[in-house]
Amino acid sequence: MVKEAEGFKTREVSTMNIKIKNRDENQLVFTVEGVDVTMVNALRRICMVEVPTLAIETVEFYKNDARMFDEVLAHRLGLVPLTTNLEELVLSQECDCEDHCPRCSVSLVLKGKGPKTLYSGDLKSEDPNAKPVMDTIPLVKLKEGEELELVAIAQLGIGAEHAKYQPTTNCAFKYYPQITIDPEKCEVCNKCVEECPRSVLEYDEKKNQIKVVDIENCSLCRTCMNDCDSGAITMDIQEDKFIFQIETDGSMPPTEVLTRACDILRDKADKIITFCEEGGS
Ligand SMILES: [Zn+2]
Repeated sequence: MVKEAEGFKTREVSTMNIKIKNRDENQLVFTVEGVDVTMVNALRRICMVEVPTLAIETVEFYKNDARMFDEVLAHRLGLVPLTTNLEELVLSQECDCEDHCPRCSVSLVLKGKGPKTLYSGDLKSEDPNAKPVMDTIPLVKLKEGEELELVAIAQLGIGAEHAKYQPTTNCAFKYYPQITIDPEKCEVCNKCVEECPRSVLEYDEKKNQIKVVDIENCSLCRTCMNDCDSGAITMDIQEDKFIFQIETDGSMPPTEVLTRACDILRDKADKIITFCEEGGS
C-alpha cells in the first residue's frame, strides 16, 4: 500500500485543453488549460530565442556612393525580415562548407542609381521563398549620379545570438483572470464599471446587477476590487489556465513558430531520456 508522504500535497492532473481565440497571418491568440506556468514559459522562451529564422548576415559591397557608411547600411539590411522556409536551409554551423553555400545561405542583390530611394522590395533574391516580408522598408537614398551595388548573404540563426533572428515581435502569456461578484454584498454603485480601464464589467439593467462581459480582456490590475467599497468583488487567477499570444514579423506563420518550438522542447526532453537510459554516463 502506498502511503502519501506527510507534508506533500498531490495535485490533480487535468487534461490539456487548447482553444484558439484569434488567428490570422501573423498573429495567434489561444487559451491553454491544464498546464503548469513553467511549461508555458519554456514554450514562450523557445519561440522567441531558439526557433531559427533567416536574416542578412554578411554584405559584399561592390559600389557605394551613398551618404551612408557600409556598416550602417549592412546593419539596416540585417534587420529586414525575410520569409523563411526551414525545410530548405540548414544552420551555418551544421553545414559542412567553409563559409557559405546554397545549402546554408541565400544571396540577395541590391542595385540602383540615383536619384532614387532603394526599398526592401528592391532586394532581388535568388530564392523566391526567401525574400523581404515587406517591400516598403526604406533602405538608402541615392542622389543624382550616386550608385550602389551589393550582394547580401542571408543565413539562418537564432534569437539567442542576435535579435534580428527572432521570429516573434510579441510572444507573451497571462494567467486566465477570474472575477467573482457577490450579489449579496454588491450595492450596484457602478463604480467598478466606470473605473475598469478595459471595460470588463457592465451594468445589467434588467437584473439590476453588475456582470462580467469580457473576462479575457482583464489585465488583472485589480482596480475593480480595490475601488469596491462594499468588498463584493474578488479577483483571482486560474493557476493552470493561460492566454497565450504570438505575433510574428512575417518570416513564418505563428503556428509554425509554435510547432517548431514544441519540436525543440521535445528534442531536449529526448536527450534527457537517452542520457538516463544510458545510465547517466
Ligand atoms: Zn554551407
